[in-house]
Amino acid sequence: MQRQLTLTLLLLLTLIGCASPATTSNGKLNVVATTQQIGDAVTNIAGDHVNLTTILGPGQDPHTHIPREGEVQTFSEADIIIYNGLNLEAQMNRIFEQMASQKTVLSIGDSVPEDRLLSWEYDTTKLFDPHIWNDTTIWKAGVELIRDTLIAEDPANADSYRANTERYLAEIDETDQYVREQIERIPTDNRVMVTAHDAFGYFGNTYDIAVVGLQGISTQSEASTADVRNLTDLIVEKNIPALFIESSVNPRTIESVIEAAKARGHEVVIGGELYSDALGEPGSGADTYTGMLRHNAKTLADALSQ
Ligand SMILES: [Zn+2]
Repeated sequence: MQRQLTLTLLLLLTLIGCASPATTSNGKLNVVATTQQIGDAVTNIAGDHVNLTTILGPGQDPHTHIPREGEVQTFSEADIIIYNGLNLEAQMNRIFEQMASQKTVLSIGDSVPEDRLLSWEYDTTKLFDPHIWNDTTIWKAGVELIRDTLIAEDPANADSYRANTERYLAEIDETDQYVREQIERIPTDNRVMVTAHDAFGYFGNTYDIAVVGLQGISTQSEASTADVRNLTDLIVEKNIPALFIESSVNPRTIESVIEAAKARGHEVVIGGELYSDALGEPGSGADTYTGMLRHNAKTLADALSQ
């Protein structure tokens, strides 16, 4: 993996030497988004006014994604790069830091005031939870940041960007209300969501539901036998009825917890698939940011309100 990354960086340095950002022949800005959540925001704000490329697709994991040669080329040809930051795109960070001197590069997470972020300690270093889209208030501020970045680069379409953003923010507010109604359906004692990795800290904070992730904040480190044992203890002790798999994480570890619980005489089922770091396939209903939030809330409520 290290060697692959080095090759990517070498290629990148070559590209930086010869490429200069330029709009395509259709005169529109080239905007590149890393995650689908960001891509969806750009689509809602800018519509057809920009050429948008979203690097990650359904089921893809931003923590471990190493940019391919063609993607590095796409970054080098972009007018604007928008990424989540806070080390979500751990294998792409260095590319963006280098490109920031050549073009507009927006890290949404790094623009959020630190007192709004969830943090944890790793080897005495304070790190921030990057899964900020699961807090609609933080994400709405991110949407406004994207709007302002687009207006600064493309003032001719400012009115359209402003109007579209107003409409999109209202849609996010409606979705937030729907999520609250769904979580209300779950009896208080059942409000525990156990997932493969810790992507739902902000969700839990916002909607008052306890979250437990087997694998920690990043999928870069694997779950250990001790992690599986500790989680099984918790499930048996709290009599938790359902666990949740995630579309961008291998379900193997969650399945091993279910087996371990069963061996101790506790029946626990998979309550459904949540969309954590990636959106759903086109047509799934979870293929937009607000659709993802609705899907996750309804899946949780259906499984935990039994
Ligand atoms: Zn994640």
